[in-house]
Amino acid sequence: MPTRLTCCNTAALAAGCHRLATPMAQIFCTNADDVPSLPGAYVLAVDVVKPVKVAIRGQPAKRLGPGRYLYCGSARGPGGLKARLARHMRRGKAVRWHIDRLTETGVVAGAWIFPGGNECDLVAALSNLPVPIEGFGSSDCSRCCSHLLYWPADALNRQRKH
Ligand SMILES: [Zn+2]
Repeated sequence: MPTRLTCCNTAALAAGCHRLATPMAQIFCTNADDVPSLPGAYVLAVDVVKPVKVAIRGQPAKRLGPGRYLYCGSARGPGGLKARLARHMRRGKAVRWHIDRLTETGVVAGAWIFPGGNECDLVAALSNLPVPIEGFGSSDCSRCCSHLLYWPADALNRQRKH
């Protein structure tokens, strides 16, 4: 499991290099066709272009401003990661999970996939990123306060200081 989300370097990131510096050199998948039908976990990168309201049970609705968000999820059902990412990347689906609000109104940039991985380990690996809404995607999780993280534009610089 990765311990920290980093990219090769800022210039490479800007040029579209989206590799995570992990022992497995995770590749950023922008098309569900490239994703294996294996069970596992993923980090979905979603760009929110216009503010979106999200209601978490037991809390007043909160507004997510424009920017990039990372959602850590898992897919262990039929079709595994491929089926789940195809769903995230498809428009016009019924809104069932919190993340559907973002993927329906924002732009799914792609995902890093971790076959055999666990989404809570990914959240832990990204714990230096801010949590925009507590409880987002983690209603059934006793370990994480949120499965959604915000990736500030200066995230790479921030991480370098650690
Ligand atoms: Zn969790």
